[in-house]
Amino acid sequence: MNEIKKLHGYMYESTSKIDQDNLILNCCKGHKPKRGKSNHAQVSIQYNVRLKDGKLIRVCKNAFLGITNFSGNRVQRILRNFVKNGELPKERRGGDRVGRKNDGKHKHIKDFIESLTCAESHYCRSKTSVRVYLPCDLNFKKPYTYSQQRVPEDLHVRISYFRKFVNANYNIAFGTPLTDCCSTCLRFKEQLKLTTSAEKRYKLTTENRVHLLKAKAFFRLLKHPKPNTMSFSFDCQKNLALPRLLDQAAYFSQQINYNNFTIVSGTSNTKLTPANVNAYLWPEIDTQKNANTIASAVRHTLNTKIFKPSVTKINLFADGCGGQNTTMMTMLAYWLLKESPENIKNIELTFPIVGHSFIPPDRVFGLIEKVIKKYPLL
Ligand SMILES: [Zn+2]
Repeated sequence: MNEIKKLHGYMYESTSKIDQDNLILNCCKGHKPKRGKSNHAQVSIQYNVRLKDGKLIRVCKNAFLGITNFSGNRVQRILRNFVKNGELPKERRGGDRVGRKNDGKHKHIKDFIESLTCAESHYCRSKTSVRVYLPCDLNFKKPYTYSQQRVPEDLHVRISYFRKFVNANYNIAFGTPLTDCCSTCLRFKEQLKLTTSAEKRYKLTTENRVHLLKAKAFFRLLKHPKPNTMSFSFDCQKNLALPRLLDQAAYFSQQINYNNFTIVSGTSNTKLTPANVNAYLWPEIDTQKNANTIASAVRHTLNTKIFKPSVTKINLFADGCGGQNTTMMTMLAYWLLKESPENIKNIELTFPIVGHSFIPPDRVFGLIEKVIKKYPLL
């Protein structure tokens, strides 16, 4: 009995499965069965137990299994692998059994998604700054179908798999239809739908392209800082109605408008900080929102801003608003003549193509709206 206990302890000295398997291989001897078919699944096993001094003692199967408490199948499997395939025990449990298999599929989806042209969000909100948008007329199905057409059949995946992989690895959304679509773009789109003449279609497409290129040129101007130039952009936020009420009846009778006119210094890549954002806020009962107020606010910003001595030119970007232009021009001419620092020699005022006017103040408005949304209606 003592001897058996010792043997048992010896077998279980190591808790690692591989060590135990090696011990089994060390004790027992396996050989192909002499009689019967040569491709028989089982191997004949001679069971031994090894004493601590290394001596082998032959025992019967039941004694071996009884002492060691191993299952007969386990011993049979280890010896079969060794005798037939010359394999030593390997760890086959656990591990990633599926991931590697799908590497090719993953690579294909990755290549496809990265080849798409995504648009960044207009508003630089903290959470959404890495979120990119695909055109609003797309959904998951279209890119999925297109991606599957380009690969051999063995790399095809299901749409649910495609969606899961994209959602886990990328931050992609489908844009919402723009509420303030450019009216010129819309007109071109509708006219193109109706036109049948090839010549007219060509003309319309060219005109639309020129219109879009102009809009692009504006954004390029706004994006890249120029040497010795200081950029400002300004815009009015849509009126904020006060108080914010749920009641429909109150909607028409009680509200007053709160105006917000914001000036941002820097290009569209500049980080928004209190130092480069000037927001002028006033309720409509204090004063009207007109060309005079707007020009005064711009003048105030120009007068309070400290310009570096190297700055010789000021670039102003305004959302296209016809009414205020004469007043603005007059104010700017006056400021340049009488009030500007000596190093400022030039002022350039740029108006965007109507309908494509996302300028830095719009980012500020986006942030304001985000904060307002957090507060419930009264
Ligand atoms: Zn347009």
